[in-house]
Amino acid sequence: MRAIIVHGGAGRWRPQDRDRIARGIHRAVASGFERLQNGGTAEEACLAAVMALEDDPTFNAGTGSVLTLDGRCELDASIMRGSDLRMGAVAGVEHIKNPILLAYHVMQETDHVLMVGEGAEKLARLLGFEPYDPITEERREQWRKLREKLLKGEDTLHYPRIRDLIRKHPELLKGTVGCVALDSRGEIVAGTSTGGVFLKLFGRVGDTPIPGAGTYATPFGGASSTGIGEGIMRVLLSKTVTDLMATGLSPQKACEAGVDYLSRKVHLEAGVIALNHEGEFGFAYNTQAMPVGIWREGDPEPRILGLPQA
Ligand code: ASP
Repeated sequence: MRAIIVHGGAGRWRPQDRDRIARGIHRAVASGFERLQNGGTAEEACLAAVMALEDDPTFNAGTGSVLTLDGRCELDASIMRGSDLRMGAVAGVEHIKNPILLAYHVMQETDHVLMVGEGAEKLARLLGFEPYDPITEERREQWRKLREKLLKGEDTLHYPRIRDLIRKHPELLKGTVGCVALDSRGEIVAGTSTGGVFLKLFGRVGDTPIPGAGTYATPFGGASSTGIGEGIMRVLLSKTVTDLMATGLSPQKACEAGVDYLSRKVHLEAGVIALNHEGEFGFAYNTQAMPVGIWREGDPEPRILGLPQA
């Protein structure tokens, strides 16, 4: 059984962007599924799907990522292979077009799991990654407006309490991307990529590159999480969901239980997708929307779900 599931981030999406989001999710799930259909591995499928989402400025990963308080992009990504629990991750990289690809190289070509900032970029240059500026004009404009609001004291917040800011403006949080793919050999690979949360402090690392938080995969199944990283890290949402699947729970029940646990324990926003070794999928979120694309062997076309309602 070959199958793939992708997400475009849990959060609040504008209903008028529905078509644009659906197109981006469709493109990503189709490029991953095409790899699987042509005999490609789960790794190739996961990379293709996540890179398609990173290259789409609609989503908060790669090109068009959200900006930090001081106006830069600091990107996080990770990828994990279920069969041998190998993982690669990068955090706080600024000039990389496809952080998921760099995370993959960390997994394949180093003895490490997680590399950050300058060191990760140095490795990227050694590997031949060209310097790249992921900031788009649209994001820069959003950043100017939000920062102005913040400086005027609107919302009566002080920035270390970014959690309160996001509670009041959930639209600040959206658009991380993720994927779990299963190939014909039964290999499961999960990957996640993000720009983090808008106006985050410089140096802040979210859940995305943290093993078990943003991404996890075992021989039984894989998961990719999205939402407020500070909550996801505290409950290790992706690991929780994959552990539940290993006990025999269906991916859908495991995702629901994981999000329910997070909601009760840390009261923050999140979502998760999962796929098991039989090609069964699940997803759950406690936000307004979480665009999801699913394509399983035998389906004539992908299912696109979790879009914002008009
Ligand atoms: N989980 C990401 C982070 O906290 C953000 C998101 O999923 O939108 O960095």
